[in-house]
Amino acid sequence: MSAPDFEALAQPGIRRLRAYDPGHDLVALRRRFAEAQLVELGSNENPSGPSPRALAAAAAALPRMHLYPDPLGGDLKRALATHHRIDPARLLLGNGSHELLMQLAQVFAGPGDEVVASKYGFAVYALAAQAVGAELRLAEALPRTAAMPLGHDLQALHAAVGPRTRLVYLANPNNPTGTWFGAEAFARFLAALPARVLVVVDEAYAEYVDAPDWASALGWLERHPNLVVTRTFSKAYALAGLRVGYAIAHPGLIALMERVRESFNVNAVGLAAAEAALADAQHLAAAVAANAAGRAALAEGLRARGWTVFPSQTNFLLVRFGERAGALEAALLARGIVLRPMAGYGLGDCLRITVGSAQENARLLAALDEVAA
Ligand SMILES: *Cc1c(COP(=O)(O)O)cnc(C)c1O
Repeated sequence: MSAPDFEALAQPGIRRLRAYDPGHDLVALRRRFAEAQLVELGSNENPSGPSPRALAAAAAALPRMHLYPDPLGGDLKRALATHHRIDPARLLLGNGSHELLMQLAQVFAGPGDEVVASKYGFAVYALAAQAVGAELRLAEALPRTAAMPLGHDLQALHAAVGPRTRLVYLANPNNPTGTWFGAEAFARFLAALPARVLVVVDEAYAEYVDAPDWASALGWLERHPNLVVTRTFSKAYALAGLRVGYAIAHPGLIALMERVRESFNVNAVGLAAAEAALADAQHLAAAVAANAAGRAALAEGLRARGWTVFPSQTNFLLVRFGERAGALEAALLARGIVLRPMAGYGLGDCLRITVGSAQENARLLAALDEVAA
């Protein structure tokens, strides 16, 4: 019996999709290079590693792995509610924030609806919209010559919102550009938007931000019930492997999202580690400080070599290498240095570089000198 035409059987939205590109096969690369020699700067992971308290909490949770995790995530939610000074009813936990970004589209958009995002916005927004059969409308980004090159153009985003728009996805700061938008511009954007349009602000890199003009969208939640903010333990808290993220929004919106949440979506080890990581403010501050210093030094090293480094408030840099980007990326990979190619984002002349440890950053610059010569 021959296989049916699965492509034809799939929903129209899924047929038009291409799977999320996670970058190079790191497991294969780790086998090829001795693990110690591979410099992994392709996935925005945190080289400081998790809090020792998170490690201990994870270890303590392991013997109970035969039990289902707390389906409510009650302890973590209470800790997050205290941390953000919000009602726990405003919280939804996710298996990473990626899951929540997808679920927002699942709940609030479908065929005939529109979802608005920015060009060079995080790739998951397009996936989320298309997976549910909604129409994706991409707003132009700010020009390369702007003060915030390739950043979100909030006016263009507003102009892209129409009567069929259900959701707007913004990232602040954004991946892969590293750019951010300021509080005043965001306040104007929100005020001009109809209340029926949900605004999702993805703040995966919020903990890293020190720009004085930036403010978390959390401050607008009370006045704008159409706002959803997503956060993650994957970046500054260094728990990417455990998959814990959360959304903060109006309790009514959260209650709807709960209807489609898989009952045990956050695992027991993740719940325990995230709660402990949240309690270790000192470790977080040290990781954020290390990133800020490393980011400044790496950007300076790259600029000194003539490359164009985009402004960043994250733990990575978008760097323009021009026509040589692809060849440089391949040559660095052959030397065990993994960066993220940007052709999938329409930025084939750029590479995205995670801020590594001082040692990793130095190895990158030395290898870059070799391959660029
Ligand atoms: C890394 C990242 C996420 C976080 O993904 P998780 O699923 O929480 O690991 C979300 N949004 C952006 C923009 C990111 O770069």
